[in-house]
Amino acid sequence: MTTPSAELHALPMPALARLLDEIGVGARHAPRVFQGLHRDGVPLDRIGQLGRHTARIAAATTPTAATFDAVHDNPDETRKLVVRFADGARVESVLVPMRDDRYTLCVSSQVGCAMACAFCATGTLGLTRSLTAGEIVAQVHLARALVADERRRVSRLVFMGMGEPLAAYDAVLDAIRILLDPHGPCFGAKNITVSTVGLVPRIAQLAADTGGRIQLALSLHAGTDATRARIVPIARRWPIAELRAALEAWPLPGSRALMVEVVALPGVNDGPADLDGIADFMRGLRGVVNVIPFNPFPSAPFRSPTDAEVLAMHRALSARGVLAKIRWPRGRGVAGACGQLMLAEPVAD
Ligand code: SF4
Repeated sequence: MTTPSAELHALPMPALARLLDEIGVGARHAPRVFQGLHRDGVPLDRIGQLGRHTARIAAATTPTAATFDAVHDNPDETRKLVVRFADGARVESVLVPMRDDRYTLCVSSQVGCAMACAFCATGTLGLTRSLTAGEIVAQVHLARALVADERRRVSRLVFMGMGEPLAAYDAVLDAIRILLDPHGPCFGAKNITVSTVGLVPRIAQLAADTGGRIQLALSLHAGTDATRARIVPIARRWPIAELRAALEAWPLPGSRALMVEVVALPGVNDGPADLDGIADFMRGLRGVVNVIPFNPFPSAPFRSPTDAEVLAMHRALSARGVLAKIRWPRGRGVAGACGQLMLAEPVAD
């Protein structure tokens, strides 16, 4: 039985249909309601042709409340969006411009994060709570409405904002189901990327629940268990060999590649043992390594690499046969680059 206070925007279509049936509205109205909420982005009382059903749905549900607290524009056209929810909790999402009129939106899945990665500002906050599916989807709706005013659109979503998406598994999966639904925003599965720091059992579960249709990104960050444990505490639980097996089992569609993220930390993970380990990890795997220069934050125990150090790391991986790219920072001017989310102010290099 769905509870009387079901969060309306958190319900994928089948759950919405079940709820409408239970409260006597009828499942046949589910596509209209879903479309109004998630494609047109209008509140329940502005969805047409529901008549007296509107009041009945309103009585049985609670809408997701999400508003912009602030929008910070960076000179490189990256935009950091601070989103506030009903309980006052705030998260940040980041709009990253792409070619043409399109944006990639980096969404958050938790308020703070329990994973405590040493190179990440969000990790210093600890975990307040996970978001609901409605709150995850709300970040997308708010961003789409913002850029629609500029005649631009959000065409790609990456779960790389605050939080570990696979630690908020049920909410993230429901949000993905809503975002993929043809009656809703209807994102292409290949345009949704879920990034994980390596919760091995959840990777297998996500593969089973999505059939591998969405894009997976693994935050590997080091090629040896010793270095990885130093910068990613969860690595003490799941060693690199288990991560490798989880990626190997991912049902990758023919034309796709897995993404493997490595933050560039000079003097920490760019020595021969780690580079060899990354090359071993990638051998036989259809994947691309993204080298991400460390982005600074106050109290960070690391320094940012110079461009020459980033290029050297990239060259060393390429020389070992690894297909690698550099993801140069975007959004540093508003503390919106990778690993900087939930900072009050930008940080000087
Ligand atoms: S890198 Fe990701 S998983 Fe690690 S602390 Fe930051 S938000 Fe959490």
